[in-house]
Amino acid sequence: MEIIPYLIFLVAIPVAVIIIYGYSRREETPYEKEIRLGRLNPELFCPHCQSKGFVRDKWVTQKAGISGGKATAAVLTGGLSLLAVGLSRKQQLTQAHCEKCGSTWVF
Ligand SMILES: [Zn+2]
Repeated sequence: MEIIPYLIFLVAIPVAVIIIYGYSRREETPYEKEIRLGRLNPELFCPHCQSKGFVRDKWVTQKAGISGGKATAAVLTGGLSLLAVGLSRKQQLTQAHCEKCGSTWVF
């Protein structure tokens, strides 16, 4: 009987559509916003709109100095060589986002 895979397919498509539709429709929760942009830091000052108390900040790790050769090898092996060789240098930075003017910057 070849009907089982067809039935699974028939059920999986609407379920996937409902999940994707529901996910794109719903509002972002404060918790998700905190994950994405960081926690509100009342001491931070926004250099773009000169206001204080609207700035979120969080730690970000930025890759620094990946060589061209390594990057090409990573592309050719689908990122496997980067895992094997290791990402070169990592830089710990702070990403800040101003709720008032919407600017995002890193320092
Ligand atoms: Zn601002």
